[in-house]
Amino acid sequence: MTSQASAVQTPKTFKPRIFSGIQPSGGLTLGNYLGALKRFVEKQDEGIETIYCLVDLHAITVWQDPAKLRQQTREGAAAFIAAGIDPKRSILFNQSQVSAHAELGWIFNCIARMGWMSRMTQWKDKAGKNAEAASLGLFAYPSLMAADILVYHATMVPVGEDQKQHLELTRDIAIKFNNDYGVDFFPVVEPLIEGAATRVMSLRDGTKKMSKSDPSDQSRINLTDSADMIAQKIRKAKTDPDPLPETAEGLKDRPEARNLVNIYAALAGHSVDQVIRDFAGAQFGTFKPALADLAVAKLSPITTEMNRLMADPAEIDRILGDGAERAAAIAEPILEQVFDITGMIRSRRK
Ligand code: ATP
Ligand code: MG
Repeated sequence: MTSQASAVQTPKTFKPRIFSGIQPSGGLTLGNYLGALKRFVEKQDEGIETIYCLVDLHAITVWQDPAKLRQQTREGAAAFIAAGIDPKRSILFNQSQVSAHAELGWIFNCIARMGWMSRMTQWKDKAGKNAEAASLGLFAYPSLMAADILVYHATMVPVGEDQKQHLELTRDIAIKFNNDYGVDFFPVVEPLIEGAATRVMSLRDGTKKMSKSDPSDQSRINLTDSADMIAQKIRKAKTDPDPLPETAEGLKDRPEARNLVNIYAALAGHSVDQVIRDFAGAQFGTFKPALADLAVAKLSPITTEMNRLMADPAEIDRILGDGAERAAAIAEPILEQVFDITGMIRSRRK
């Protein structure tokens, strides 16, 4: 069978499959929890096939201390499980254990264009003024991310709002690969950006995203923070002097107030309108303690379970190894087809 023939026979409809990842570039934040992890659990519970990954190859686009990287990867896995990911129902692993990601990533480096990559706002933000000194990996990161998704023929990707542009790039890469080789091989993926907190902002600056790699620990709530620490960070969170408005519309030009209300809504599972109805006219002196109590109530069971899981790192490594095997079983046959389509000889005895 020629490569063209095998490619033409590829079915055009793809089985619903979800893939998403989180970088072990630090401890997980409330932003990661509300924008990503909580959604990951919901998708698993809807019964869709779910594949979740600690993307360690992405983390090293910025230098990571090896011992810390190992610790953060295990802690990330513990957070997934503590938040409700069942490693039997979902596939949970760390990216570097499945080499198909990096292999397809290289092929996509040859599909993606320099101009596409240099337009990525995250590249511009992270490389900052000194782009010359940033790693080549940081520049190429979105093409590896496209490979992470497409090596599973994943059709849906739950992410926070900040990843929207990278998912558009993933679609462009899939379309260009399909066009360049005259195949209908990669699906055009659907971003799932849902909920009240798709973009949780920094507690110190309502115009900046909350990030685990932000140098200021006060800018974020970590899933490992104690109840006292969470309360203290919320108390000190930047706000304006006005009370909460009577309608959601009144939050429009108040980024810090809007952020705290969005966080409350997402944690409580209420709409923003509902939160505004409950707290209309309230001062931050009233709203902040209520938010702190809610955050502690929702996060402390996760923190406790994470700590319990972290006491047995060998068990976490076993879970990641098992997940990696199951992930590789899906990815490798897809990668073999890519080698066939692109004309790479595969004659080595296995
Ligand atoms: P880094 O600063 O190292 O990039 P990060 O906090 O941005 O870390 P990522 O690992 O890049 O975390 O992203 C993991 C997932 O969490 C992605 O789906 C991303 O969209 C989501 N996410 C990250 N930050 C936020 C946020 N502030 N609000 C909502 N979702 C977020
Ligand atoms: Mg990020």
